Amino acid sequence: MNQHHRPDPVPFIDIGAQRRRLGPAIDEAVSRVLTHCQFVNGPEVTELEARLAAFCGAKHVVTCASGTDALLMVLMAKGVGPGDAVLCPSFTFCATGESVALTGATPLFVDVDAGTFNIDLASLRRGIATAKRLGLKPKGIIAVDLFGQGADHDAIGAVAQAEGLFVLDDAAQSFGATYRGRRLGGFGVVTATSFFPAKPLGCYGDGGAIFTDDADLADTLRSIRVHGQGSDKYDNVRLGLTGRLDTMQAAILIEKLKIFDDEIAARNAVAERYARDLGDVVTVPRVAPGNTSVWAQYTIRLPHGDRDGFAAALKADGVPTAIYYPKSMHQQTAYRHFPVADGGLPVSEALSGDVISLPMHPYLDEATQARVTTAVRKALSA
Ligand SMILES: *Cc1c(COP(=O)(O)O)cnc(C)c1O
Repeated sequence: MNQHHRPDPVPFIDIGAQRRRLGPAIDEAVSRVLTHCQFVNGPEVTELEARLAAFCGAKHVVTCASGTDALLMVLMAKGVGPGDAVLCPSFTFCATGESVALTGATPLFVDVDAGTFNIDLASLRRGIATAKRLGLKPKGIIAVDLFGQGADHDAIGAVAQAEGLFVLDDAAQSFGATYRGRRLGGFGVVTATSFFPAKPLGCYGDGGAIFTDDADLADTLRSIRVHGQGSDKYDNVRLGLTGRLDTMQAAILIEKLKIFDDEIAARNAVAERYARDLGDVVTVPRVAPGNTSVWAQYTIRLPHGDRDGFAAALKADGVPTAIYYPKSMHQQTAYRHFPVADGGLPVSEALSGDVISLPMHPYLDEATQARVTTAVRKALSA
């Protein structure tokens, strides 16, 4: 060490710390799979589905290969296709709208609320009218639970019911969070999630799951998961995918689910410290009444325009940041030909210009977090 020594950069997400905590349990779970060799549809897959159902209160859980497949499989099961419109927020990860476009249907982008980053009800209503005006058949709504907290599901459900639309909840970032006292996935609406490593409950590769109380839908999803199989593997009754979750990932997730509640509590402690230490200098995220968050991201809004300068100043102090999302979906090359709700999407566009996310994970200790908050305050006062 010399006088120019700088401390190591703060990790943005520390998957290694969790790996060290779980060490032997994961090794043993993986080695059980290596011993029985049922790499596809092994007993761990069924066990994980039962444990996930118990965790969130869903009647049926269908695990699958990714969060994107989870969304796509539900849209396929619902028969969504060309001529249909599915309403989704524009300020989200691209997989939300991509799954709709992959079916041949039209994603119709709506705006979000500046406080919660989730669907704005007035824009949703305008979007349904826009779809009809364009000659599209509004078929469903994908309600995204962005950054860790649920959307306004009762209000979205009421709009959907009045219009005869289905609701698919994209909880890729928010599995484990509660809405009005119930876990996402466990209150009746069809819910999709992702187990990508950086999500609150992540595996060691790709994975996903679908939660539903509808037994017929669950059967259809299980068929779609294996090439639309009917009574047996070589009876194909519909189009499907190779959509299964690996046994190895299921074995890993069983161990990670055991500490998930504890990790959610740790994430909330980190979020509380950020709000306490930064609430007077930046716009800190707001958890809506009736919600709890699992803090997939801790996303702030800056009081002034120079986001790149702010990120560079933090980086120089060893603090990484990320921007979710620098462009909303309707501003992306692959999606800008799709329609947006009448009135435009001014909030999504403003957020894409001024949000920035800080390090957030359950193993962010107080001393390390103080380096982050000190760097943020210093960068803002410069
Ligand atoms: C991560 C994510 C997905 C896709 O999940 P994958 O497992 O990466 O396919 C879908 N929607 C949202 C909002 C996400 O954050």
